[in-house]
Amino acid sequence: MVKTKLLYIGGYGRSASTLLDILLSNAESCIGLGEIQNLSNYLDVGGIRCSCGEDFEACAFWSKVFAIYEANDIYARQNLVKLQDKQGWSRLLRYGFRMRSKQTESTLRYFYEALFKAAKNSENVQVIIESSKSSHDSVARPLILASECGLDVTILHLVRDPRAVVYSILRGSNQKIEAGQEAQIPFGTVRALLGWCMANLGCYIAGRLLGKGRYMLVRYEDLIEHPTDVLKKVGKNVGLDVGPVLRIISQSTLLEVGHHVGGNRMIRSGTVRLRGDIEWQQSMSWIKKLAIWCFVFPYALLFRYSPLPDINHSEKGRYRPSSHN
Ligand SMILES: [Zn+2]
Repeated sequence: MVKTKLLYIGGYGRSASTLLDILLSNAESCIGLGEIQNLSNYLDVGGIRCSCGEDFEACAFWSKVFAIYEANDIYARQNLVKLQDKQGWSRLLRYGFRMRSKQTESTLRYFYEALFKAAKNSENVQVIIESSKSSHDSVARPLILASECGLDVTILHLVRDPRAVVYSILRGSNQKIEAGQEAQIPFGTVRALLGWCMANLGCYIAGRLLGKGRYMLVRYEDLIEHPTDVLKKVGKNVGLDVGPVLRIISQSTLLEVGHHVGGNRMIRSGTVRLRGDIEWQQSMSWIKKLAIWCFVFPYALLFRYSPLPDINHSEKGRYRPSSHN
């Protein structure tokens, strides 16, 4: 198999991975595809569309991927669904002992071969951006893709202040808000904090296991405050020409949204913003901020978050993605 480049955005949800995915997908010879891991689930359940507005079955890009992928195996899609929850912590531990899985190897390898073939046929794509992150069922995914599928993987670990993440999660489930349903998440604070710790620990370990030069940490706060510097650094580390993205930022022109899977409401709202979300700083009590910091303090030190933050994010711009008809 030809070595292909995959930039995997890892970390916890509500950390602006969709924004980073969209930003980088506007780089030269690059395509952003979002939460690819959830694709088989969305196809199975139905009702969720590609960011281009079409059903995945009818989407110009994903229909091409599935035509190639299913050409030789009518059970290909079912095999992909079976793998949905087999890329979590147990696989991460097995990876440490170099235990491979033949089924995962062939299923995912064929799927990504189809993915890269479709991407290269439509444009001269050299790099694919995936933002399946590092939840309990995807934490080992970048390692599986590198070791068992032969992909050239680099992890971009996106981390955001845990207090901002808790505040965002307490607003409720994105999908339910979008559907106009009751969105409150039971035990939101505890679940958010445990999830944040586990996902960031898992992503950090996966980066170490992947090897030198294949892991880079990006803090959401740095991306918002200094987007040009951060994107230049990412481009240099992963061999990506981010010139087109920097021009978009400096000229406030359109950010293009392609065929992303999943992501938050922003991706389907027609508006992409690059600005700090600091509502949590004014709305959250100092006691709660301090309590959350104490709960996660080893991580807070590792990722450079102070006990009582005073970040003053300024609005950097507002972008409207072009529509795909
Ligand atoms: Zn599409």
